Amino acid sequence: MSAPVLVINSGSSSIKYQLVDGETLEASTSGVIERIGQSESILTHKHAGEKHQTTTRLADHAAGLEAMVAVFEEHGTPLSGAGLIAVAHRVVHGGERFVQPVVVDDEVEQAIEELAALAPLHNPANLEGIQVARKLFPKLPQVAVFDTAFHATMPERAHLYAVPRAWREEHGVRRYGFHGTSHAYVSRKAAELLGKSPKEVNVIVAHLGNGASVSAVERGRSIDTSMGLTPLEGLVMGTRSGDIDPAIVFHMHRRTGASFADLDAALNKESGMLALTGQIDMRVVEAAARSGDRSAQIALEIYCYRIRKYIGSYIAALGGADAIAFTAGVGENSPEVRAGALGSLVALGVHLDEAANAAGGPVISTPQSPITVMVIPTNEEGEIASQTAALLRS
Ligand code: ADP
Repeated sequence: MSAPVLVINSGSSSIKYQLVDGETLEASTSGVIERIGQSESILTHKHAGEKHQTTTRLADHAAGLEAMVAVFEEHGTPLSGAGLIAVAHRVVHGGERFVQPVVVDDEVEQAIEELAALAPLHNPANLEGIQVARKLFPKLPQVAVFDTAFHATMPERAHLYAVPRAWREEHGVRRYGFHGTSHAYVSRKAAELLGKSPKEVNVIVAHLGNGASVSAVERGRSIDTSMGLTPLEGLVMGTRSGDIDPAIVFHMHRRTGASFADLDAALNKESGMLALTGQIDMRVVEAAARSGDRSAQIALEIYCYRIRKYIGSYIAALGGADAIAFTAGVGENSPEVRAGALGSLVALGVHLDEAANAAGGPVISTPQSPITVMVIPTNEEGEIASQTAALLRS
């Protein structure tokens, strides 16, 4: 390894980690610590093709990261001897301030804390990981890489909402977009597959995981994406509604007296595929649809129709696309969703090759298709490590 980076993705009750080379993007070791703060936390560590799982109580993120250091000593290279150049942290919201990765100091920490107003579910947990890691690895640079940063290039026509000026100017209300490291990585890979430089092509990326977003990438720069002020806007997701009439919130508040916290939870955690089918896992929804479950069939139609509308509108926004790339759990693994999303786009230049789609790509369109359709596995940790190495080189 020539630029080893420890990438940390700290959530409210979990920490994912990966030891990645910031130059080759190869990951040698990875793991996840789940159920932090509960009576039984689970640490799953993968090294050299082997999986090691331990169950123990980890009271907080500090205990979690200490357990991670210990498991590296047991299985793999001890982190103290790994030649780390940095610890890199995924931070969900960078607001208007952070449009590039940044080395964390007290002032950056403070700014990430202030941005929690825009991402109350994510930034506090990301910050906790940073604070603990700064204590645990005091000699290493800690770098924050923001999910929003790649979309900072969106023009005003795409990022402004038509809402009162004070909302925008005093409260940061605008569209930011998320999954930026994935959209950056996959759009670059798509250009590579076309044998072109990113600056020569227009790519639409559909990142379909539990959270899901589509982006329009014009000559290497994001010009639009489906998530907005928060990750709630856009596609139908595992538990999020995606686009709705905002008046539904007022209507339900008036009708039921539900608090804004309840309505926030309803739209973020109890909607989407979960609300339509009772299931979050797309594999389960697809199996139910195949066995004739009508609500699962309709839910899949709604899910794919929303993606199709975004892709169609982004072909228009870009004035034509060279490639459409599918990524993340559903995008990489579901031929049904890919076909459902692209079904009626032949008139727009999308000719799917059914056999290639079933086989999983990477290219799943016919050779004559004006727009090349691809399946590209995402690599968010690799992208974070690569951006970190680039920042430290500069
Ligand atoms: P996250 O947003 O949590 O990182 P992932 O990118 O891992 O999510 O995607 C998780 C989603 O991918 C789940 O809904 C899961 O059901 C779906 N998925 C994984 N494998 C398949 C598959 N073979 N077919 C359809 N969906 C799949």
